[in-house]
Amino acid sequence: MAIMSDVEHKETHAFQTEVTQLLHLMIHSLYSNKEIFLRELISNASDAADKLRFEALSNAALYENDPNLELRITFDKDAKTITIADNGIGMNKEEVISNIGTIARSGTREFLKSLTGDQAKDAHLIGQFGVGFYSSFIVASSVTLTTRRAGLARDQGVRWESSGDGQYTIETVDKEKRGTEIVLHLADEHSEFLDDWRLRSIIRKFSDHVSWPILMIKPDYSKKEEDKETEEKPPEWETVNKASALWTRNKSDIKDEEYKEFYKHISHDFEEPLTHLHVRLEGKQEYTLLLYVPKRAPFDLWDRDGKHGVKLYVRRVFIMEGAKELMPRYLRFIRGIIDSSDLPLNISREILQNNPMVEAIRKGTVGKVFGLFEDLAEKEPDTFKQLWKTFGLVLKEGVIEDFSNKDKLAKLLRFASTHADTADQEVSLKDYVGRMKPDQEKIYYVTAESFPAAKNSPHLEIFRKKGIEVLLLSDRVDEWLVNHLTEFEGKSLQSVAKGGLDLGKLENEEEKKDLEKKEGDFKGLLERVKKSLGETVKEVRLTHRLTDSPACLVSDEHDMSATMARILKEAGQSVPASMRILELNPGHPLVVRLNNETNEDRFNDLAHILYDQSMLGEGGQLDDPPGFIRKLNKLLLEMAS
Ligand code: ADP
Repeated sequence: MAIMSDVEHKETHAFQTEVTQLLHLMIHSLYSNKEIFLRELISNASDAADKLRFEALSNAALYENDPNLELRITFDKDAKTITIADNGIGMNKEEVISNIGTIARSGTREFLKSLTGDQAKDAHLIGQFGVGFYSSFIVASSVTLTTRRAGLARDQGVRWESSGDGQYTIETVDKEKRGTEIVLHLADEHSEFLDDWRLRSIIRKFSDHVSWPILMIKPDYSKKEEDKETEEKPPEWETVNKASALWTRNKSDIKDEEYKEFYKHISHDFEEPLTHLHVRLEGKQEYTLLLYVPKRAPFDLWDRDGKHGVKLYVRRVFIMEGAKELMPRYLRFIRGIIDSSDLPLNISREILQNNPMVEAIRKGTVGKVFGLFEDLAEKEPDTFKQLWKTFGLVLKEGVIEDFSNKDKLAKLLRFASTHADTADQEVSLKDYVGRMKPDQEKIYYVTAESFPAAKNSPHLEIFRKKGIEVLLLSDRVDEWLVNHLTEFEGKSLQSVAKGGLDLGKLENEEEKKDLEKKEGDFKGLLERVKKSLGETVKEVRLTHRLTDSPACLVSDEHDMSATMARILKEAGQSVPASMRILELNPGHPLVVRLNNETNEDRFNDLAHILYDQSMLGEGGQLDDPPGFIRKLNKLLLEMAS
């Protein structure tokens, strides 16, 4: 009868399609690192103990008279099982379904699409995604998870079972002890893990620093094989790991390897971190930081609601993860822990906001992170290069969002420039200033929507001729960046595509005189072109910023840049129409020819073509592309005949 009702109560659910796909890929690509399943399950169990301790701060009954939080790992050679049990927070049925049967993270589908089938590449990508519970299926042909949430009645346990083949069953069961027990039924080819020594060495290697004791049964070597069955004595448990929070130990006692393993433990990353920072701050506020910069961007770096990576502890008690108040958004890629000695243990998310103590910790932490970055830039330029490549775009957001640290951030910024003329962003503002011409007063930059468009911008012609370096900005965020960063060490930043060409003392008198003279010669032309183009342009004037191109468009000093206007338009925002200024190169044969053109029709066509090609040249879009083509073909035909 009991079996009948069991069967009746067992529900079968299908995995979310993404889960099945992920499982398949994970098993395939992590095969050569299969022992990580244990680290992942231990991490989850340790988190569960953390969560229980936190909830029990306000509700001690959750301990159910069993306050010693620990993990127990056993194996059974005959049954071919490994069991990982914790007396942590546990899960109720809804939690099991949503945590274990689905992947709720946005961007999962895109992530799966990016997988290639190439084992090494995919392993990296899966590392960025985070491995977690599903790694059990790397070694297990089926997994049984039995859990009961702390505080629920013992008949409210839940059993979840799956062979990782697209579906799972779930049923309500009796579970005396709160917490979670995971039984891995090992596939035959993985029976190597059914070994005391092997399991202990994996635990020491990966999970030594887990704060909770990880217990295993003490092997009794005196016991003979045949005595085993009759043995009545209860097993003797012993702690396998150090079981002390890594960050509380002295830096000098911690091996690099331990730092790395701890990173993998807290981040579920599969790769080593790029670098880390471990400091204890003492002063008005006492707290310890153990922070890491990952090697690769987490897959949800651009997800506005993506996880923040820092966990908050108070006097070694885990309080919460993703504490946004402790780390600015532009440092969201940092992983690690902040352990405060002064915050109250019962601190809630609400209290975190606008709390002066939290504010002080955040300020100190950000300062330390900047210190780390500056140090890297100076002493380990290659590491910094990698950091900038991966997270530079995010750091640029900081200039816009964090006024108080703008100057510090400005020192970290790296750009492409005409100095190397490559797309690599490696020039700091300090480098630039160091290379400025003796009479140069400003830091020049050009913004465009792509690197080639920036590099080949006609606005650069005079700068290239004179050997003046220009920063080539082609990340979208750069437009906002230059709006917020208007100067560096007293030198203002100047767009080469805005306002009149202002080279200050770099301009020689002859050039100025030459232009003034030409203005007389071309006065009539400028008026004619303006008349022909009408309201399309604000003004038509001569320039000597061009050496090769006949014409270019510039914006008024205080108008929105063309790149910015295009970005906003694309994002569906209405942009105030700001007319551009058409500048003509008086030295260019086309402009000279236009000046001598007497046929009104041809003059109009040529004037429009000059405007349209200036627009195309800066990566802009024409209002009337077929019109442009028609005019161009007309001219080509005239040429041919
Ligand atoms: P992640 O740990 O990256 O969130 P997992 O797939 O490993 O992803 O786990 C999903 C969720 O399932 C966890 O966030 C947690 O809420 C829950 N979970 C996993 N293992 C346990 C456990 N031993 N005890 C309680 N909850 C757990």
